[in-house]
Amino acid sequence: MSYDVIIIGTGPGGYVCAIKAAQLGLKVAVIEKRTTFGGTCLNVGCIPSKALLHASEMFHHAGHGMDALGIEVTAPTLNLSKMMAHKDATVKSNVDGVAFLFKKNKIDAFQGTGKIVAAGKVSVTADDGKVTEIEGKNIVIATGSDVAGIPGVSLEIDEKVIISSTGGIALDKVPANMIVVGGGVIGLELGSVWSRLGAKVTVVEYLDTILGGMDGEVSKQFQRMLAKQGIDFHLSAKVTGVEKVGNGAKVTVEPVKGGDKVVLDADVVLVSTGRKPYTAGLGLEKAGVALDNRGRVEIDGHFKTNVPGIYAIGDVVKGPMLAHKAEDEGVALAEILAGQAGHVNYDVIPSVVYTQPEVASVGKTEEELKAAGIAYKVGKFPFTANGRARAMLATDGFVKILADKETDRVLGGHIVGFGAGEMIHEIAVLMEFGGSSEDLGRTCHAHPTMSEAVKEAALATFFKPIHM
Ligand code: FAD
Repeated sequence: MSYDVIIIGTGPGGYVCAIKAAQLGLKVAVIEKRTTFGGTCLNVGCIPSKALLHASEMFHHAGHGMDALGIEVTAPTLNLSKMMAHKDATVKSNVDGVAFLFKKNKIDAFQGTGKIVAAGKVSVTADDGKVTEIEGKNIVIATGSDVAGIPGVSLEIDEKVIISSTGGIALDKVPANMIVVGGGVIGLELGSVWSRLGAKVTVVEYLDTILGGMDGEVSKQFQRMLAKQGIDFHLSAKVTGVEKVGNGAKVTVEPVKGGDKVVLDADVVLVSTGRKPYTAGLGLEKAGVALDNRGRVEIDGHFKTNVPGIYAIGDVVKGPMLAHKAEDEGVALAEILAGQAGHVNYDVIPSVVYTQPEVASVGKTEEELKAAGIAYKVGKFPFTANGRARAMLATDGFVKILADKETDRVLGGHIVGFGAGEMIHEIAVLMEFGGSSEDLGRTCHAHPTMSEAVKEAALATFFKPIHM
């Protein structure tokens, strides 16, 4: 059997590419080394972390947020194993869903590790050692990413005391003290989960800001909110040692600019310093597939590697390591392979931090616009002035819109607040259509909604908001 496309890896990049290619009439095979489909995202990433974020938020809310609404409840008790069972059931329903979609779209799935043995030929080594060879016109590398360590620090991740995000979604008890190394999205999300469940969480971050790369004003305000929730921060600080001692660990932290080091005690150390592309065992060297200086598979604007017939998408290539970016690349590549014009607009890829409040962003930050020398105007609106936010006691945060000073075209949108991850999409759609802040400000928004703050921020960008 020869396939039109063989896809190695079934994360959001691979499985979406497979479904889209099959929908477009191509004969597709997928290879997955896990026993379930869905990759990092569905198995140990986006989905389980969101199940725990939601459950821990409900727990925290029941303990702290109900009284002011006139609901008097006795302090909730945590049943962590039941919360983990909810997370596991959520994962199962999602990964089973992908298996169903593969069957529905007549996609052949091979369980095992895929290796490119020659152009158009891939071997699959199953867990029992059995090797199958399959052939196809096109091969897609969608092997994703893996946990990165701490530069210069030798680490033994045991997923009990020194953990990656994978251990961070599966602890069997709430640690008294948790040190999170890395103040990026994953560290802050999982730090929030364990903080809400009762851990004292301390974040150590190399940069002078959390959420590096996000709009500076947003990350500063967000840090204040997390600090109010009880999370401690050591910024401009580097971890130079992590040592297991007794049942816990000692973490050595030094100021980046030099100075005295401190040693922090932790029951659990979560290493969330980022992720690295996963290409091990794929046979890329022998196949002659080039990597870039950061170990990512090098591709052109159409996902082609330097070897004809071999393509790559998702976390294993350049760009933000986000599930929806991988999915969109999967769709675009399937369209290209089917002879259509696939395209991803990298200028409009939203990113969301699913804490409470949420942080959501699309397009350029103020820092990026300044660096590019683009003249811009800013419109902001706080949720304290939004009626629905007041009714829900969700007044933390604001909406910020950045538009070109001359043309008024919206160049970026940033939201901190309850439901920010949903609200960001109206700014994304507007940007996709090249819309202006006036277009957004003149669009009728239902009242009372949190989204009215987006409209008001747009009004503030080209003229004045009404409610402030
Ligand atoms: P992956 O999802 O990593 O899938 C790659 C698959 O390839 C894996 O299943 C792997 O087993 C398989 N594979 C690798 N090598 C081989 C081989 N040789 N043979 C066969 N199979 C192979 N992103 C978001 O957008 N939103 C979020 O909320 C979010 N939350 C996250 C939370 C956590 C804790 C983590 C760790 C990540 C999160 N991410 C989130 C990032 C997201 O998971 C990734 O961007 C996304 O999974 C990348 O998709 P992918 O298809 O490129 O690779």
